[in-house]
Amino acid sequence: MTALNDRPEVRTPEQGGVPLTTEPRAPREAPGVPDATAPEFTPETDPLDVIRWALGAHPDLLMPSAFNLNGVVLLDLAARAGYRGEVVFVDTGYHFPETLQTKDRLAARYPEMTFVTLNEGANPEDGQTPPDLYASDPDACCAVRKVAPLQTHLREKKLSALLNGRSRDQAATRADIPFVETGGARVKINPLAHWTRERLEAYAAEHSLPVNPLYFDGFLSVGCWTCTRAVRPGEDARAGRWAGKGKTECGLWVGESKL
Ligand code: SF4
Repeated sequence: MTALNDRPEVRTPEQGGVPLTTEPRAPREAPGVPDATAPEFTPETDPLDVIRWALGAHPDLLMPSAFNLNGVVLLDLAARAGYRGEVVFVDTGYHFPETLQTKDRLAARYPEMTFVTLNEGANPEDGQTPPDLYASDPDACCAVRKVAPLQTHLREKKLSALLNGRSRDQAATRADIPFVETGGARVKINPLAHWTRERLEAYAAEHSLPVNPLYFDGFLSVGCWTCTRAVRPGEDARAGRWAGKGKTECGLWVGESKL
């Protein structure tokens, strides 16, 4: 397990690192397209009912997760609803140790599910990408280290739908996501679409869920340590992801390579 003080230093341009990309990039987020064949859920619909419907409509359902607050709550709800499939995490090589420890705690808590780690043991020097690519071209880095391994796994599985924990109040770019979303290669089931951060926190506390400890230090959405900072008062939950880089999504849920 990587220790906190084993993290490679982020080199500034003065130290020979690659300058950060600060120019905003063109928005790539498109509003989710509701699946017209899904039941007429309302914002008050219990996420459990959405998951139960999804398990019947898409028995091959699979859950990717980065084990953020939303993902942890979704895991617990999915377990209660009867989900017994894979929980797939991609090791980019740049995860916080706290995130890896959270994954291990969840795997121990939910033995009825199969926890899969793609690229387990990846590290910044593994040659997948140039060491500073996350700073010079984070889209390219995410494409190689995060999106491609998951795309490969999903193609091998040939599945029809994904269960994920995105919610509308995480970011303006997610403000319209429906419970059941079409577009891209697979249907996306978003049972927490209408739950607020307060409701997620209350659920996690009520059920004593193992939330990533970084959450309580202001990391309301935790990605790679190179590309995540704590959220400041008034910012949305994902404001700390790729801050200053004009990037809001890793590419799993939006863009040409979305899942
Ligand atoms: S979040 Fe940053 S380090 Fe992680 S894969 Fe994306 S660009 Fe690379």
